[in-house]
Amino acid sequence: MKILVTGGAGFIGSAVVRRAIRDGHQVVNLDALTYAACLENVAEVANDPNYNFLKADIRDRPALDQALADHAPDVIMHLAAESHVDRSIDGPGAFVETNVTGTYNLLEAARVYWDRQGRPDSFRFHHISTDEVYGSLGPIGQFTEETPYDPRSPYSASKAASDHLVRAWGETYGLPVVLTNCSNNYGPYHFPEKLIPVIILNALAGKPLPIYGDGSNVRDWLFVEDHAEALLLVAQKGELGRSYNIGGENECSNLQLVQMLCGILDRLRPGAEPYADLITFVTDRPGHDARYAIDPTRIRDELGWRPSVSVEEGLERTVRWYLDNESWWQALQNREGVGERLGTKA
Ligand code: NAD
Repeated sequence: MKILVTGGAGFIGSAVVRRAIRDGHQVVNLDALTYAACLENVAEVANDPNYNFLKADIRDRPALDQALADHAPDVIMHLAAESHVDRSIDGPGAFVETNVTGTYNLLEAARVYWDRQGRPDSFRFHHISTDEVYGSLGPIGQFTEETPYDPRSPYSASKAASDHLVRAWGETYGLPVVLTNCSNNYGPYHFPEKLIPVIILNALAGKPLPIYGDGSNVRDWLFVEDHAEALLLVAQKGELGRSYNIGGENECSNLQLVQMLCGILDRLRPGAEPYADLITFVTDRPGHDARYAIDPTRIRDELGWRPSVSVEEGLERTVRWYLDNESWWQALQNREGVGERLGTKA
């Protein structure tokens, strides 16, 4: 396959790019290189003859038309987005522009391109979204693909809007679309503004380990390399017009997660005191969703996919990666907003 991946210099997109190249696909990585991007994430494939990088912004429609005409992909995997909930609270405009208008531009460019190609059945527009579109769960229950949308942050509202656009382009124009909604990812190359890298890097620096509220918020943690495998499977075998929820089958509270990370760090990089002594509860995120949980039945039964990495194993691999790759995260420390408490402007 020739795949055009948007957002391939980000955390999940780069895992998709690395995996797709390993699997023998051709990849065009289209990315605007925002604050969240890092070309180092794809350095291991940068010289592969099957890999191309294109700096372009999904808000720029002519650039998208040109990219599709020049590269003629079989599949578009759309991951480019503003992705940090806290930033969406302080500045929602960028989320509407990239996640909503950018997705609209890409859909229109794809529709024109697909039409000009003679509407091949094999073409796919795969939209990558989040379980946050379903809102917040109580202590029981799981999100299925039929759960009504109930987004509660500017980020999740902008992703929900983009999901609706993608479905509408499938229904109205017949564009061959497929969607996925996944739970919280973690793993190597996770940008150091998200919870897991913040905890690892603050612990190594002897700084407080901030936990929003009382730490009881529950997430289902999905190892990013498992996710990349699932995405490539859906891009090839997912049924058109259908969406698939992707989870890690690893639910735990933020406090449990941070305690696990502290235990791993105590073993791998022992300090004078247990790292858990640095845990500090801070003011909660406004509108903080209590619990997300994925019902993985559809992707398991229809496509035969299950995650391969438990949260214990994935966290250990992640901590080891951060210990071994200090130059990667040191270089990102002076990016705008990194190390600051964001999302308090509500
Ligand atoms: P990320 O922030 O790490 O990377 C986003 C990438 O998109 C960056 O490389 C950035 O430069 C690029 N980008 C942003 N705006 C762009 C624009 N206007 N034009 C072109 N490129 C642009 O994000 P991520 O964590 O890798 O998430 C990827 C996708 O997966 C997003 O759509 C996100 O909503 C979704 N998702 C993420 C998670 C998670 O846990 N990280 C969970 C569910 C869904």
